[in-house]
Amino acid sequence: MAALGSYLVARCAGGLWYLRMEDLDLPRVVPGIADDMLATLEKLGFEWDGEVVYQSRRTDCYREAAEELIRRGLAYACGCTRSEIAQIASAPHEEGLVYPGLCRDGLAEGKVERALRVKVYDEVVSFDDGVMGRYSQHLTGSCGDFVIHRADGPYAYHLAVVVDDAAAGVNQVVRGADLLASTPRQIYLQQVFNYATPAYYHLPLVTGPNGAKLSKRDNAVSLSAGRDLGQDGSALLVSALRFLGQAPPSSLKDATPSEVLAWGVANLDISAIPRTSAPFPEE
Ligand SMILES: [Zn+2]
Repeated sequence: MAALGSYLVARCAGGLWYLRMEDLDLPRVVPGIADDMLATLEKLGFEWDGEVVYQSRRTDCYREAAEELIRRGLAYACGCTRSEIAQIASAPHEEGLVYPGLCRDGLAEGKVERALRVKVYDEVVSFDDGVMGRYSQHLTGSCGDFVIHRADGPYAYHLAVVVDDAAAGVNQVVRGADLLASTPRQIYLQQVFNYATPAYYHLPLVTGPNGAKLSKRDNAVSLSAGRDLGQDGSALLVSALRFLGQAPPSSLKDATPSEVLAWGVANLDISAIPRTSAPFPEE
């Protein structure tokens, strides 16, 4: 859904459309899934600009950014375990525990670095989402100093996407509403690095039959699970357009996927995109 939505928004504005594989968490990446997704997108008539960016190959850029934050005194080592934070943190929020800043002034004796955190300040970050409207978050109240790198893991999504968007000159970000609440942290990092903030559009999520949230993996698999997309591709795109609040004529199902996409670009009405998640429409 994010692929279709971002394609329509980018092309409608006459812009380029870049693909990025967010494969930082390598142990959890399903082998071959990137190639499957690219093949599916091709079958569905999507044409992307430039090279596909793989985050797993850009670790040096993220390290450089993290080191800059350390040099500027904006990031510090944290040695807290999850249970230590849970004992002290205020009530859990939707985004997890609020970090109480225990290691801001240095690691306590005997503690080893477990994560690198960036300092946040007592301010509210607000932005106008192109679909969801005004969104505000008080960083100290909702997450506190947040993790940008785990000692035994990858660089955090927030840091990676901010660095990648700036490197590619991205000026529009279209993605699922599950990332809405993380956007203020990314805007905060953009401000810290003096990067421009792109326009954001957060799309409603596809839910399971009983309203349950589908995991990212479910979504990815459902797109590429060996469906025969030959003729189905157009019907799938027409359903996806409807899910996004657009009103394609039923006759479009008989068109080629490229023609369906062209219709979507020519007729995109962003104000019609619903804000609430829903099951994918059946034929
Ligand atoms: Zn700590």
